[in-house]
Amino acid sequence: MDYEYAPQSPYRTGLLGRCPRCGDGRLFNGFLTLAPRCENCGFDFDFADTGDGPDVFVTLIGGFLVLGLALYVEFTFEPPFWVHLLVTLPFALFICMGMLRPLKGLLIALQYRNKAEQGRLES
Ligand SMILES: [Zn+2]
Repeated sequence: MDYEYAPQSPYRTGLLGRCPRCGDGRLFNGFLTLAPRCENCGFDFDFADTGDGPDVFVTLIGGFLVLGLALYVEFTFEPPFWVHLLVTLPFALFICMGMLRPLKGLLIALQYRNKAEQGRLES
């Protein structure tokens, strides 16, 4: 933990895609590409490794929401199949793409806050 910076809420910085140390610089360089370092405080983002974490949460949460919508539309309106292509598919894309970046930012901010890293055996 860097004590020259006030502790930032990992939820605020992560969900907004801000630097987990200073809370001001941008965490992302593109949609999901991490910036090499914070433009504000120079913090190196090399420590960040979320792996498949955001994908798992997007799959579980998005799958629940999309399946719920599909089942609701199907059993309430009994529409033809093409209605699902026009309603459920765009909803799935919107939900999944919309959750990826905030969840990746949140996991990186929580990784920084909790000093999470690969387990190592002491020799
Ligand atoms: Zn920063």
